Amino acid sequence: MTSSSRPLLNRRLAEFGTTIFAEMSALALSTGSINLGQGFPDTDGPEEVREAAVRALRDGRGNQYPPGPGVPELRAAVVAHQERRYGLTYDPDTEVLVTAGATEAIAAALLALVEPGDEVVALEPYYDSYAACIAMAGGTRVPVTLRPRDGAFRLDLDELRAAVTDRTRLLLLNTPHNPTGTVLTRAELAAIAELAVERDLLVVTDEVYEHLVFDDAEHIPLASFPGMRERTVTISSAGKTYSFTGWKVGWVTASPALVTAVRSAKQYLTYVSAGPFQYAVAEALSLPDSYFEHFRVDMLAKRNILATGLEEAGLTVYRPAGTYFITADIRPLGETDGIAFCRTLPERAGVVAIPTAVFYDHREEGAPYVRFAFCKRTEVLTDAAERLRKAFAR
Ligand SMILES: *Cc1c(COP(=O)(O)O)cnc(C)c1O
Repeated sequence: MTSSSRPLLNRRLAEFGTTIFAEMSALALSTGSINLGQGFPDTDGPEEVREAAVRALRDGRGNQYPPGPGVPELRAAVVAHQERRYGLTYDPDTEVLVTAGATEAIAAALLALVEPGDEVVALEPYYDSYAACIAMAGGTRVPVTLRPRDGAFRLDLDELRAAVTDRTRLLLLNTPHNPTGTVLTRAELAAIAELAVERDLLVVTDEVYEHLVFDDAEHIPLASFPGMRERTVTISSAGKTYSFTGWKVGWVTASPALVTAVRSAKQYLTYVSAGPFQYAVAEALSLPDSYFEHFRVDMLAKRNILATGLEEAGLTVYRPAGTYFITADIRPLGETDGIAFCRTLPERAGVVAIPTAVFYDHREEGAPYVRFAFCKRTEVLTDAAERLRKAFAR
């Protein structure tokens, strides 16, 4: 304890004291509910990738501090993946940085590139860590709200343009977007690229769901648009693509100057991490296209089970074009407050979800929306869908 009346948590972080996930996971436990709150799979990724990690551990690869930028095998695999998948070429020695998950990459990028007072424009609702990282960097966040239009949460390009001021340093983007499941279209990305070039902005783009796109949606890296390669920090990670969220292996691809800047912050956060797992992820990135296709098709089937269940329970469902989350509107149930709804949902239906209002600065914009994760075994999703139907369907 301290004798002064000054709060322990500093002012920059005061608003980020506890996360909703802790409260909802505790509720899941105490009520025996199915936890569709936090987004992690309930089965592990490919056996051969797990075995690759065991081999690396046994062979003594990565058990001591790996190189600061990441092990050469992983950097080479990241470069090959970007080239094969998107036709983007990077130099493995100067344009790739391995991080402790995408989480550290986001933090390091913001800490490195944002001066106190700079404005950072980000899509609202935000991914969990964005607001806190912008605050730690001393930046000011400027939300641009995604709103329902034609069955999906869409970006208003005029609003985005209007959000950029002379104090804007960077755009923080996320596509496919968590929590809404929106995948930015080629036309939207082209307009964003034009804006970034015109206003001379840096862009940090979080693409951890790059392999999880459904129906006719397509993931296109922003770095592939004219003028963007030299101003874009592209972030991805093994956690979501390979269902090993505990490994925390992420990476940055960007120009040498941007990678150098991000590394300057990163080297004093974790320095390095996940040595043996880096070798395993290098192998994972080289899996044949059939792995990614199978994974996508499997997740699409899961999306459909949960989406149908939610619809039959009476909610308005925004079928996501990407990610492993569904956002649903609870107003057809006669409810308006997602936070209150999620607090009672375990008791009423035996299911846990997350109110998306907590990911908004404009809480009123997000009030009626609730996020459900579908990265769970089929029988778990079927059970959850049945519980929701029973609790709400008339
Ligand atoms: C899960 C997630 C992350 C964090 O990725 P890690 O590799 O686990 O650190 C970052 N951004 C988004 C949008 C996510 O959903």
